[in-house]
Amino acid sequence: MYDLMIIGGGPAGLSASIYTARKRLNALLISGDIGGQINQTLGIENYLGYQFIEGPELIDKFQTQMSQYPIDQKIGDKVSRLEKIEGGFEAVAEAGDRYQSRAVIFAAGKRARKLKVPGETELTGRGVTYCAICDGPVFAGQRVAVVGGGNSALEAALDMVKIAEYVYLVSLTPLSGDAILIDKLSDAKNLSILTEHQTEKIEGQDFVERIVIKNLKSGESKQLDVGGIFIEIGLMPNSEAVSGLIKLNEAGEVPVNCSNETELAGFYAAGDVTTVPEKQIIVAAGEGAKAALQAHRYLQRLAE
Ligand SMILES: Cc1cc2nc3c(=O)[nH]c(=O)nc-3n(C[C@H](O)[C@H](O)[C@H](O)COP(=O)(O)OP(=O)(O)OC[C@H]3O[C@@H](n4cnc5c(N)ncnc54)[C@H](O)[C@@H]3O)c2cc1C
Repeated sequence: MYDLMIIGGGPAGLSASIYTARKRLNALLISGDIGGQINQTLGIENYLGYQFIEGPELIDKFQTQMSQYPIDQKIGDKVSRLEKIEGGFEAVAEAGDRYQSRAVIFAAGKRARKLKVPGETELTGRGVTYCAICDGPVFAGQRVAVVGGGNSALEAALDMVKIAEYVYLVSLTPLSGDAILIDKLSDAKNLSILTEHQTEKIEGQDFVERIVIKNLKSGESKQLDVGGIFIEIGLMPNSEAVSGLIKLNEAGEVPVNCSNETELAGFYAAGDVTTVPEKQIIVAAGEGAKAALQAHRYLQRLAE
C-alpha cells in the first residue's frame, strides 16, 4: 500500500508529486498523460517566471524538475473508480489494475464539453475537433468554423485565421471572452463572427462538409460549407471516478476547503477538478503543492 496516490499529471498533480517526493513519501502518480491541458496550450504569458513559454516547453521543465525527485508513475492509464477501503483507498484503473494508498490527491482536471448535436460523434476525428491548437494545422487553407464565444473559442479563431482560408466564429451568446482577444480578432479579414447563432447539426459523408446554424433572432437556418469544426464551448470536470465516493457540486466539481480537504478524511483534491475558483496553471500548481503538504500532515498524524 502506498502512502499517497496522486491522480492526474497536469500542473496540480505534478506540483503535488514534487512536494510529495521531497517529503520522502512512498507515492504513486497515475495519469492519463503528463501535462494535462497544457498540452493544448500554444503560448503561456501568465505563468510566473516566464514572460512567454510554449505549453510543451513548460511541461518539459516540469518533467525535468520532477526527475530530480522520482516517485512511482503509471502514465497512460486512468482511474475509472476510486473506492474507500479499510485504512485507505483503492483505485481501479481502466486497464484493470488496482492500486491502494492511505491518502489520495485527486487532480484529474477538466476536458472539453461536447456540443451534443447530430453528426458530432460520427464525425469526431473526421473534421470535428476539440483542440484548435492540436489539430489546427490539418485544416490549413480550408474553410472552418469555430463554435463558442469564450476565451478558448477566441484563441482558436485567432489561431485559425492565420492558417485557414476562412473562419466562421459561431456563438450562441454575445462574445464573452477577454476584450484583448476580441480586439485582436477585429483585424482579421478572413473571419465572420456570428453571435446568437445555434449550431444545429454537422453534416458530411466521410468528413465534415458543412454545419447548419440557426439565427436565434430571426429563426432562419443556414448552412456553412466548412471542412472542419472546432468545438470550443468550455470544459467539464473529470470527476466521474469519484462520483460514488463524495458529493460533487452541481457543476460536477469536487468541493474542497482552503486546505484542499474534502468531506472524506485522507482524500484531498487540487486544481481545475475542484471548486476552487480561477482555473489557471499557476493556481493549479499552487493548489497541488498545498494538497501535498496537507496530505503529508495527515499521514504524519496517522503514524503517530
Ligand atoms: C486551450 C487552453 C489554453 C489555456 N491557456 C492557459 C494560459 O495561457 N494560462 C493559464 O494559466 N492557464 C491556461 N489554461 C488553463 C490551464 O491549462 C488549466 O487551468 C490547468 O492545466 C489545470 O491543471 P490541472 O492539473 O488541474 O488539470 P489538467 O491540466 O486538466 O490535468 C489533468 C490531468 O489528469 C489526468 N486525468 C484525467 N482524468 C483522469 C483519471 N480518471 N485518472 C487518471 N488521470 C486522469 C489527465 O490526463 C491530465 O494529466 C488553458 C487551458 C486550455 C484548454
